[in-house]
Amino acid sequence: MLEYYWLLRSVLRAKPHLRQCLTRCQHCGIFFLTHPRNAGRHDLRCPFGCREAHCKRASAQRSAAYYGDAEGKRIKSKINQRRPRKYCAPEPPSDRPRATATQRRPAQWNPLVVEFVRMVASLIEERRVSRRQVLAMLERVLRQHTMVGRRKIDQTVAWLNEEPP
Ligand SMILES: [Zn+2]
Repeated sequence: MLEYYWLLRSVLRAKPHLRQCLTRCQHCGIFFLTHPRNAGRHDLRCPFGCREAHCKRASAQRSAAYYGDAEGKRIKSKINQRRPRKYCAPEPPSDRPRATATQRRPAQWNPLVVEFVRMVASLIEERRVSRRQVLAMLERVLRQHTMVGRRKIDQTVAWLNEEPP
């Protein structure tokens, strides 16, 4: 969590124009960067689980409300046979590093953080950035991070609390 905020802070310092993309999860309150097309919205959910959970819940509620009665159930079973599933944004792939990868790479990055950084890096560079490039970048960041020390992270969290978007 702290490493995530630290990265977010670094990104915003390097690319101040992306601050307009900074938003806060309506559900859990975590800060995250959203795509520029969603800039300024405050009704979003974070990509770290809340979005998917909400998507599933909302879908179930719609279903329950609409197809609640017996007639509805009959309609639904007919529709289900021909209707493709409603699109829900897929979760980032959870490719947990294997034991061998762990030995090679001491830093354990949360796959969600990696995917988030990858998205942000792609936005910044206006091209598709690969996971491998992100991991290489995180390695560099981590080395600096370790040198700078823990106090920096606390400052980052304080900064985010004092200056919400
Ligand atoms: Zn959330």
